Amino acid sequence: MSTKTKTEIASMIKRIELISGESLFKCYQCGKCTAGCVMADEMDISPYKVIRMLQLGLVEKALKSESMWICAACFACRERCPKEVDLAKIMEALRVIQIREGKPLIEPDQVDDKVIEEMPQQGIVSGFRKYN
Ligand code: SF4
Ligand code: SF4
Repeated sequence: MSTKTKTEIASMIKRIELISGESLFKCYQCGKCTAGCVMADEMDISPYKVIRMLQLGLVEKALKSESMWICAACFACRERCPKEVDLAKIMEALRVIQIREGKPLIEPDQVDDKVIEEMPQQGIVSGFRKYN
């Protein structure tokens, strides 16, 4: 059960739209983004459902999802969307909000040595752009 008022939820939705530069309500739920998403199977909430939840005002629930952290920011969804919704930017906006609100972050010394040794440098840099 949400503890937010309708006004607070509307303001959270506006904030997501402002940070992402995208209009959530352009999405008409065709699902093409999700059909082409390489990470969708790993997500607890599918990409197009994340948008639907936001459209319905279920912002707090969407923010609790791990999907934004699983998103690889590959932009495949943006390329496939017939309405030109940039879902990668919406996922990024959700991450930014979580980070600004103090979601626990990862410090470099918490990353396993094996990951540091084996992961391409670009992957480490882009990972840290998301997680710290
Ligand atoms: S492809 Fe675009 S319009 Fe279709 S569900 Fe995804 S974001 Fe919405
Ligand atoms: S940017 Fe994220 S949501 Fe979009 S296709 Fe890539 S992994 Fe999926």
